[in-house]
Amino acid sequence: MPRPIEALIDPGALAHNLARARAAAPDTRLWAVVKANAYGHGLARAFEGLRAADGFALLDLAEAQQLRALGWRGPILLLEGCFEPRDLELCSRLGLWHVVHGPQQVDWLAAHKTQQPHRVFLKLNSGMNRLGFAPAAFRSAWARLHALPQVEEISLMTHFSDADGERGIAHQLAAFEAATHDLPGERSLGNSAALLRHGVAGDWARAGILCYGSAPDFPAHDSRHWGLQPAMTLRSRLIATQDLQPGDSVGYGSTYRASAPQRIGIVACGYADGYPRHAGNDTPVLVDGVRTGTVGRVSMDMLAVDLSPVPAAGVGSEVTLWGRGPQGSLLAIDDVAQAAGTVAYELMCALAPRVPVRSVG
Ligand SMILES: *Cc1c(COP(=O)(O)O)cnc(C)c1O
Repeated sequence: MPRPIEALIDPGALAHNLARARAAAPDTRLWAVVKANAYGHGLARAFEGLRAADGFALLDLAEAQQLRALGWRGPILLLEGCFEPRDLELCSRLGLWHVVHGPQQVDWLAAHKTQQPHRVFLKLNSGMNRLGFAPAAFRSAWARLHALPQVEEISLMTHFSDADGERGIAHQLAAFEAATHDLPGERSLGNSAALLRHGVAGDWARAGILCYGSAPDFPAHDSRHWGLQPAMTLRSRLIATQDLQPGDSVGYGSTYRASAPQRIGIVACGYADGYPRHAGNDTPVLVDGVRTGTVGRVSMDMLAVDLSPVPAAGVGSEVTLWGRGPQGSLLAIDDVAQAAGTVAYELMCALAPRVPVRSVG
């Protein structure tokens, strides 16, 4: 029998979540952001659930090629644009739209020979200071692009640093307005948090994490608040149990000690599967659908859980690390991420190649 861990991807949940985004912004077209192998879900599997998107946004040219090979004829946007001049050949050949965030990318376009003028998304650095032209340089970049025969249409975009948090987006939105108000072209403004929390997206929303069922502004709101369903379930089984006496410790470094007689279970899941090693004691987990917590350190291939709330559990019992458990139970990946001091994005993307993945439903 193979090691019992597996990840289940639910295309129905992806479709449902995308529909939630539609309902939140009915007049906005939706990029489904599928970078990083669709946030760890697998590009082909995610594509199944997200076909109703108006386009797909990603970073890797190889992933763009894969989408075309899967039969997607609609828009594809390269969120970081081209990395070197010859990437433009693939953009011409596959009809990829691409972000232009820096002056080198304009130079490359000007030197590019093509019969197919490109659609580009010119990016403003409105305050995040990662990618994009500063407001003072934006207009001349636009004018340069506008004069190029290689460019068919210029759309405008920016990215918010605090759409999920207290600072919000007003200061960046004002910077965007000031820099672009008299320029033509479609706008792409919001990520998941800007769309759901602030209702701001422009003509093209860039919906990433919400598609996968995590709340973009957790812990201010959880996935239930936004009506999102988990697209990924990570589950395994108990492969052993131990009966602890008061004073007994568990795992490397003895970071957990029993204060009373206690039964624990050993789960076939560790950090080599992508489970966060930083998950401390009492990170939430479901055993046979009952919520309990981890005890001791996560090791490479195993972790331990408290079986006090599930006395009937034993070897073979189903363990849900996140996602959907048996009998309608649910463990939000956001709860696990919070206990491990990280975000759901990182947990999804960290799913290890050794974990078998299959689609359900
Ligand atoms: C990843 C990314 C997104 C999606 O963000 P979510 O928070 O996952 O919705 C949107 N825009 C850009 C530029 C990105 O890199």
